[in-house]
This record gives sequence, structure tokens and C-alpha cells, in this order.
Amino acid sequence: MADGIQDGGCLCGAVRFRVTGPLREIVACHCSMCRRATGTFVAATAAADADMVVTGADTLTWFRSSDEAERGFCRQCGSNLFWRRPGSGRTSILAGSLDQPTGLAIARHIFVADKGDFYEIGDEAPRHDAW
Ligand SMILES: [Zn+2]
Ligand SMILES: [Zn+2]
Repeated sequence: MADGIQDGGCLCGAVRFRVTGPLREIVACHCSMCRRATGTFVAATAAADADMVVTGADTLTWFRSSDEAERGFCRQCGSNLFWRRPGSGRTSILAGSLDQPTGLAIARHIFVADKGDFYEIGDEAPRHDAW
């Protein structure tokens, strides 16, 4: 993202987005909710809502996954795209939805105690049992 613009979208292309501000380093969340929502774990960057434009928002659907957070997905192809706390002004973006190259890397792992037992974490980033 040398030009400061990062595009992304879902598998079918109905939902596309563009981020024109800084992206956070990637946090990998291994909690049971992320596991069920994605099949493995969530690796997500994040951006300020003010730096983000989403097109195809009529196809983007939000599922309230807990008291504090909701997850955005494309209802046409099922791609998991976003996670956010309503009112926070920021949206977490699932890293796999970004167009390559991203220039990003996993900076830490969270909720490692809850991770699926069918894979191992293979990098040296710090690991935490909760946030
Ligand atoms: Zn889609
Ligand atoms: Zn999680």
C-alpha cells in the first residue's frame, strides 16, 4: 500500500471496499466465535470508518455475534469481511479480503487458549490467551 490506498472485496465481487488511511498490523483471533464464523481463525487489520468506502453495501449483511460486536459478510457468496463494535468508529477488516499485496503481517495472536486443535501457530508473533 505504498500509495496509501488499499482495496478489497468479497469472493463474488458484490461487496468492494477502499481504505485510504492507515491500516493496523494484523491481529489473529483464535476465539471460538471467530473459529465458527470462518472455519479457522480471523486474521484482521483495522481502519477508521472515516477512511473507508464500501460499495455494494446492500449485499453486505451484519450479524450481531455478541453483545458488543457484529460481523459483516456478503450475503451472496458468504465471505466474511468485517468485524466491528458499533459506535467505535473503526472496522476490523479480514485480511484475506484485501487485494494483494497488503504489505501487512500478523503482529499478535489473541484468544490462543480457545484455538482449534487441528492447527498450530507457525510464526513468532506474541501469543495471548485473551485480548
Ligand atoms: Zn460476495
Ligand atoms: Zn475472535
